[in-house]
Amino acid sequence: MTQYLPTFTFPGITPRVVFGPGTLAQTGEEVARLGASRALVLTTPPQAEDGAALAARLGDVAAGTFSEAAMHTPVDVTARALAAFDAAGADCVVSLGGGSTVGLGKAIATRRGIPHVAVPTTYAGSEMTDILGETENGEKTTRRDPSIRPQTVIYDVELTLGLPVEMSVKSALNAAAHAVEALYAPDANPITSLMSVEALKVIRDALPVLVDAPRDVDARARLQYGAWLCSTALGYVAMSLHHKLAHVIGGSFDMPHADTHAILLPHTAGFNAAGTDLLQPVADLFGGSVGGGLWDLAKRSGAPLRLADLGLSEADLDRAAQIALKNKYQNPRSFDEGDIRNLLQAAWEGTRPAT
Ligand code: NAD
Repeated sequence: MTQYLPTFTFPGITPRVVFGPGTLAQTGEEVARLGASRALVLTTPPQAEDGAALAARLGDVAAGTFSEAAMHTPVDVTARALAAFDAAGADCVVSLGGGSTVGLGKAIATRRGIPHVAVPTTYAGSEMTDILGETENGEKTTRRDPSIRPQTVIYDVELTLGLPVEMSVKSALNAAAHAVEALYAPDANPITSLMSVEALKVIRDALPVLVDAPRDVDARARLQYGAWLCSTALGYVAMSLHHKLAHVIGGSFDMPHADTHAILLPHTAGFNAAGTDLLQPVADLFGGSVGGGLWDLAKRSGAPLRLADLGLSEADLDRAAQIALKNKYQNPRSFDEGDIRNLLQAAWEGTRPAT
């Protein structure tokens, strides 16, 4: 039987990527390539020393450091960072860290119209996307705009060797969630789908190796490669039920971002696998069961499995299901409040999904 490709748009992939061990040394060159010469180096407080070391290495190309990046890009932190950016006479930002630091880089770059070199040190996958989530007065709003996307991304595996195993696992599963949802996105295209399947294969194979040998450079590099693919897919297509639920649980109940993604993924993916054949490649990769296979990988890797362990109460699940139903969004399988409540119950208890 001839299978015709559906109509699709391929948007092109813009951020320049520099990948490989030791590539952090190319940061100055990459800043210059963007026509900039005074970089403000951004980090979180725990990575402040790494930021100072990078600034020292950049010499005159560094305008200074700002090390207050925080989860979910609070706008008051961004205001302080903008003041530091202006006071230093900077003309670009270099964000060195996980999704929180890359988020701050995006918040500054989109407001000042300046270039952004992102140097990710986790697998969360913000660096390739045009998405920025910001918090003000406890409320998170997310928007997409091309000016949010960094111009250059440097993936230096050496920066990930010290990422604690537990954080590495959750972060990699966070990345996997982008790939799973990219496969059934309404605006999916053959390239993001290829990337997603490749990413899930890489994560499936590399994660257990990393858990057993956290400083295995090859496993770390493969995971970083997988994270790049996941981030790219996330950056070019729309997300569905999984990201919506993670947003609700993380935003409305203040649950940790990566843990929430890691716990929900087998349940959201398993639920949707019963409603679309677009996840068949994932079933093929994970022993025939999308949700079950992802749950097995999470368990084998020591990932958190139960929303209950994050401190969410059973009563919170009712409210979460109601909030998740408030706005309409696309999903390959239709659902009602009862479906979401059942899905959340399973994630709360941490049971292995059947599909
Ligand atoms: P994070 O950036 O908050 O990092 C968690 C902690 O790990 C921080 O203290 C950080 O300093 C530390 N850390 C990072 N790399 C390290 C390393 N190599 N070694 C030791 N410590 C290290 O966490 P995250 O999970 O990377 O990012 C989460 C944030 O990213 C959330 O705010 C989320 O909304 C956002 N995010 C955004 C997008 C997007 O496209 N906009 C995509 C994914 C995630």
